Amino acid sequence: MATTSMTQQIVPPATIGMLGGGQLGRYALMAASAMGYRTVVLDPDPSAPAGAHANDHLVAAYDDHASLDRLLRECDVVTTEFENPPAAVLERLAATTRVAPRPASVAVAQDRIAEKAFLVDNGFPVGSFAVIADGSDNQSGIASGTGLSSVVAGGAIVKTARLGYDGKGQRSVDSVAGVHAALAELGGVDCVVESRLDLRAELSVIIARTVDARVEWWPVAENRHVGGVLDLTVVPARVDPLLADRAIGLAMAIGDALDYVGVLAVEFFVVAGHDGDDSLLVNELAPRPHNSGHWTLDASVTSQFEQQIRAVCGVGLGDTSMTAPAVAMANLLGDLWLPSGGDGRVREPRWEAIFDDPHATLHLYGKSQPRPGRKMGHVTVTADTPDQAERRVVALREALLAR
Ligand code: ADP
Ligand code: MG
Repeated sequence: MATTSMTQQIVPPATIGMLGGGQLGRYALMAASAMGYRTVVLDPDPSAPAGAHANDHLVAAYDDHASLDRLLRECDVVTTEFENPPAAVLERLAATTRVAPRPASVAVAQDRIAEKAFLVDNGFPVGSFAVIADGSDNQSGIASGTGLSSVVAGGAIVKTARLGYDGKGQRSVDSVAGVHAALAELGGVDCVVESRLDLRAELSVIIARTVDARVEWWPVAENRHVGGVLDLTVVPARVDPLLADRAIGLAMAIGDALDYVGVLAVEFFVVAGHDGDDSLLVNELAPRPHNSGHWTLDASVTSQFEQQIRAVCGVGLGDTSMTAPAVAMANLLGDLWLPSGGDGRVREPRWEAIFDDPHATLHLYGKSQPRPGRKMGHVTVTADTPDQAERRVVALREALLAR
């Protein structure tokens, strides 16, 4: 307890602390307890999905002193399943126990302004953007050397610097006046303004990195978003293998630049480069397992959640090979329980459709309240090719609504 050095391997029955009790924490704690670790989760929501899978669920605010003291007393390492634990909390925990990822890495990923600055300072490619802090654009267009009006020309997206997820905290705009209206709507908080890019594809790379710089990665995932929310992931991505290798190289270099410990997801945009070829831009970083890695539960030797536990404990990393030629994952949002044209009442989807397919796996996160846009679960399908996997997973999700 709080006596392990930064590099010592943490093995069962040691205790792992988790900040946040959503579905990402739930799967990580399930993996941890399967390996024989003890687990404690801190989440203010008594019905947080991870709560039921932890040895102890501390139901308290993230900055609750008594709960942080307990984590410090009981945990050999503390990790996080979301990017927004308060920086002061992570710093306090890190002063006397192992915290992975490092507070400085989380600080970069939890603030779009810090994230852009990190990416630009380290020479990673990003789209043109402007920063609006304290109500004015005072560091505009670092990447492109341009100001707000040129970022906005052709359309832009205003994103709150902090606390956005699943497309929340974002507004699409078409003029500088539109930026100001969006800022007011978003409550005048610090924002980044990004040029709205013509996306050829979206990719993500998930890596796991240990404190002694051992790294593993999964094949590149191809992601489709609807309304800013991940809808579908297909692996391996149907892109030029050279582009996929470049994405993996960038993700590893980002991991090195952050001296990252744990599982890191890097989201990429594929856009037309100057020569018309596919070119990569870094969209954003997630200092944790990622929705686009849920397929690893069913089609990789080691899941991203087991790997998170292994990485933060500093033990050997697992094999990231796929166990099927291709896989697709479709998210199940609360809307599926609230069919349009229905009577507004909650209706359970027809799960038999998924169970009837031996290559499909259903995952539900144990959330009792379906709300539009809320991630309730996902379905995974393995197949011989990415196209087949995608077609099948889409068909299965549609079949959930059949009467
Ligand atoms: P979140 O934190 O909600 O995932 P993102 O910045 O990744 O926020 O945005 C969500 C999605 O919105 C992206 O995956 C992409 O589909 C779309 N998007 C975001 N920024 C841009 C942009 N600059 N140009 C085009 N599409 C974008
Ligand atoms: Mg994103």
